[in-house]
Amino acid sequence: MLIVQKYGGTSVGSVERIQAVAQRVYKTVKAGNSVVVVVSAMGKTTDGLVKLAAEISKNPCRREMDMLLSTGEQVSIALVSMALQELGQPAISLTGAQVGIVTEAEHTRARILHIETERIKKHLQQGKVVVVAGFQGISSTPDARSAASPREEWEITTLGRGGSDTSAVALAAALEANFCEIYTDVPGILTTDPRLVPEAQLMSEITCDEMLELASLGAKVLHPRAVEIARNFGVPLVVRSSWTEDPGTWVTSPPVKQRPLVNLEIARPVDDVQFDTNQAKIALLRVPDRPGVAARLFGEIARQDVDVDLIIQSIHEGNTNDIAFTVMTPILKKAEAVAAAIAPVLRTQKDAQTQQAEVIVQQDIAKVSIVGAGMIGRPGVAAKMFASLAQAGVNIQMISTSEIKVSCVINACECDRAVAALRQAFEIESSPTTSSAGATTLPEAAKSASTSPPVRGVALDMNQARLAIRQVPDRVGMAAKLFGLLAENNISVDMIIQSQRCHIINKIPRRDIAFTVSRADAQQAKELLQQAAGEHDWGEVIVDPAIAKVSIVGAGMVGHPGVAAKMFEALAQHQINIQMIATSEIKISCVVAQQEGVKALQVIHATFGLAGSKKFIVPA
Ligand code: ADP
Ligand code: ASP
Ligand code: MG
Repeated sequence: MLIVQKYGGTSVGSVERIQAVAQRVYKTVKAGNSVVVVVSAMGKTTDGLVKLAAEISKNPCRREMDMLLSTGEQVSIALVSMALQELGQPAISLTGAQVGIVTEAEHTRARILHIETERIKKHLQQGKVVVVAGFQGISSTPDARSAASPREEWEITTLGRGGSDTSAVALAAALEANFCEIYTDVPGILTTDPRLVPEAQLMSEITCDEMLELASLGAKVLHPRAVEIARNFGVPLVVRSSWTEDPGTWVTSPPVKQRPLVNLEIARPVDDVQFDTNQAKIALLRVPDRPGVAARLFGEIARQDVDVDLIIQSIHEGNTNDIAFTVMTPILKKAEAVAAAIAPVLRTQKDAQTQQAEVIVQQDIAKVSIVGAGMIGRPGVAAKMFASLAQAGVNIQMISTSEIKVSCVINACECDRAVAALRQAFEIESSPTTSSAGATTLPEAAKSASTSPPVRGVALDMNQARLAIRQVPDRVGMAAKLFGLLAENNISVDMIIQSQRCHIINKIPRRDIAFTVSRADAQQAKELLQQAAGEHDWGEVIVDPAIAKVSIVGAGMVGHPGVAAKMFEALAQHQINIQMIATSEIKISCVVAQQEGVKALQVIHATFGLAGSKKFIVPA
């Protein structure tokens, strides 16, 4: 068999660890396998290099950062190779450039285009173990869009922090390896980060879709792009501890169509356009902004056995919030009755001055979605969706995003036009797999729904910031402008929420739009939006960097009313206020204040019964 083994920083953090890795590789070879080893830099080397650069420059050039950071892996491949040779095992170390891991010319965040396999195969045939530097590649041209450039202009690139996982899975795909093993400092994928919740439990397997969400929502045990490649190319993937012989966690993927091994990471981003015209929207305006409100509302809705689909809660305005959600049309009446009954109850003495919450129902809506694992980390894809809808004259009422799906709620009468525009934009032929009215639109998730628990894992992301733009004119094309601008500057947006409340200012109806971005991008995003505000007649741009995003993920939550309510309830019981809510079929995310992030993670993990009796201790 051909096996790709990847060892992370802590697994090669010392001489002893490197020797232990060599032993494991040696044993795998002796068992009759060919082995390609991918390694990270030793321990916290990469962090150290980042600090060093920061001492010289506040804003170092990205090319030089790649030159610097790629050195970490060059040290560890040589040492692992020597350790193997000491055991009498022939081995050779190769940098990304020596292998021919060809990437785009995007320094510090390059995507892999293709991998030359000849040199590796030659060494394997000679009985050697090939030790490849993770996280790095070489760009084919200074500008991927220009004509091929002379070889002397090839540049060292890196794939982004944590990218060695991606190198390993891409190599496994290119070499058509039997499987890829990711060795790390935990025994596999756990229900949450054991450093924050020691009672987290190990799972024996998880679906790619679930892992994609968890990884991109903050579980750094796997790089999301590694999961994407595994999913797209059907690479069997397992995460294991390099300290033990335990079997680890398998990441399972649905059967795949054969794909060409070119443009590995930039193949078609969207696989399908889906729509659902059997939805209705309920919005509650002016609900008080304090802990427990969402819990009460959705608790009551769950008790009536109403399954909600999208939920969004926009940022507060004064001391109130808006919460909107969609349900299937047949249960609309029931949902509406619950919302109407609870609206007056939500008001307490303290809120006596505020106006009573108002319930708005809209029946003639449709949900259109684009789906595909290739959209991960590519902000241009969502922006293109919004632009296509704008061009078709379709106004967007609600937006919900997940790692592999963007859904927009629109007017039902515009659905056909929207779907046609999206199919054309993303070159999707209409196919019988595209669901029409009524059916739940995630066949894979739905299939596993009956077997998986509603909540598989919980993740915390403390590296996000929230941005809000006040008073954005409510007209066709605004989302396209806004997110197009950010996408042009390579800023990925995560949760996107438009307020339900409309204000008429200067005779124009306006809404607030809030979203989250990585904290590192927040300042740049703010400046870009402020510069554009005048031209597009937007209001103030506000940044809140002190947020945490806590999310639950599980394919089994499809068709399980009450999961959201239970999450909100857990937060309410601990007096944690929810600032924003966004959901997709298999995840629910809440934004809370940063200092409450860890607590929120712990109480949610406990609420869903994910805690075990054993405590994990992560090796230092
Ligand atoms: P490596 O250096 O091997 O790539 P990382 O530090 O990148 O290791 O990833 C492993 C770490 O991911 C663990 O030590 C753990 O703290 C963290 N982690 C976060 N979420 C999870 C989870 N759901 N399951 C396992 N580990 C997790
Ligand atoms: N050494 C790189 C980092 O620390 C890549 C990796 O470890 O995956 O981000
Ligand atoms: Mg890692």
